[in-house]
Amino acid sequence: MQPALSSPRLLVVGILLSLALIVAQRLLPERRLDLSDAHAGNFHYLLDNNEPETAGSVGWVDESKLHLQCHYTRPANWQACGMGFSLVKEDATRGIDLSPFSSIELKMRFKGPTRLIRVGIRNFDPRFSKADDTNSPRPHYVNLRVQDLGEPLRIDLNEFTVPEWWIMQKNHPREYNRARLDNAIQISIDIPDELTNKTYEMEIDHLVLHGEWVSREQTYLGILVAWLLGASLLSMHRSVQLRQRSRIQQREIDALMTRTRELRVAQDELRRLAAVDELTGVLNRRGIEQVMAELENDDEGITIVIADIDHFKQVNDRHGHGKGDEVLSRFAALLATNVRASDVVGRWGGEEFVILCRGHKLDEASALAEKLRDRVARFDFDARLSLNITASFGVAVALPGHTAEEAFKRADKALYRAKSGGRNRVESASGSEPVSTFL
Ligand code: GH3
Ligand code: MG
Ligand code: MG
Repeated sequence: MQPALSSPRLLVVGILLSLALIVAQRLLPERRLDLSDAHAGNFHYLLDNNEPETAGSVGWVDESKLHLQCHYTRPANWQACGMGFSLVKEDATRGIDLSPFSSIELKMRFKGPTRLIRVGIRNFDPRFSKADDTNSPRPHYVNLRVQDLGEPLRIDLNEFTVPEWWIMQKNHPREYNRARLDNAIQISIDIPDELTNKTYEMEIDHLVLHGEWVSREQTYLGILVAWLLGASLLSMHRSVQLRQRSRIQQREIDALMTRTRELRVAQDELRRLAAVDELTGVLNRRGIEQVMAELENDDEGITIVIADIDHFKQVNDRHGHGKGDEVLSRFAALLATNVRASDVVGRWGGEEFVILCRGHKLDEASALAEKLRDRVARFDFDARLSLNITASFGVAVALPGHTAEEAFKRADKALYRAKSGGRNRVESASGSEPVSTFL
């Protein structure tokens, strides 16, 4: 039987689904975070040194357009010209994980006597960052050439590196200095130059973080996991099916074997019945012939005793056929119980019985015949009737190189002699005795 979902069909469905997922991943809309969109509730601010005597040196030209100007007239300890975009909400130590994002898109205008401006990301790391120390969150920077700012720029987040001055200044263990943007609290754009007595102007058109909702890696990993899961589920299902099928087959084999055994028993019984005489229970003629054929090929040899009930016709005539049958049964039982375990008793036909003895000892077989004759003569075949049953016996041994059939003929001839000699007697055929042709 073909399973509802065959392996090739599942394979095709799996491949199509995987392709669909790969395509869907590419068609999914981008993940975007527009920091320059003031209406989206993003918070921005000027970067200056917060010292009152230098205040005013950095200021908005038009805050709604994120347009600022800086001019420092006096040098200060720390100078800054730029703007910051906050990535925190209430908790200043809780920023956003930038790992779902891959790049920053920046479009800005700039005027001023410098060749580089700087994009920075501060990442708050609870291992060493402190909320009241603005320089403690780890900075990451990318420097942009002013001449490249005419076009919108895409800055890969992988480009950001931790500046050496911060590493030198903090002297943190090495692992703290590695670029990591899992808790970014601020993105800044400023000028990394000496600022005194110079005027700068910048205007941010847009600053947008870009990413994918589901990354390509996640998609491929998901597909791989689904394939592995599917393959193991399928193989589990197949192995359960196979186990069930083999159980059913085993049951069928068991049933067949039981049936075969029953048939063999029935056949043996039939064979036995075919070889057994129905009336007396000893072997019938066919059974005798079979045993004779077996013993004939045996080195041991065979001696044949034929027993014939004397004047049996009279039993039938005087007491009826039923009584005759009874006598036949008892006669057979008498023979069977008085022979040796190795002897075989059978009914050749009518009131004539055969005893097959192993070996070729005529004397022993004759003695056995004599014993049987005596038992028969003394046996009371009927409690009420005096039947006076006797039997005559003929004995012959199968000579080397002669068939059992030939011995049987000589035994029969000996029996004939016993009959003509007065009945109720045993006659043995001597080995040299010729076989008469009329038998
Ligand atoms: P003998 O001493 O010469 O052997 O004489 P006999 O009467 O025994 O021999 P005969 O061959 O003349 O008769 C055999 C009889 O056995 C004839 C037949 O009716 C009888 N007989 C043969 N088979 C059966 C049987 O199955 N049942 C019964 N009741 N009688 C049978
Ligand atoms: Mg007879
Ligand atoms: Mg007879």
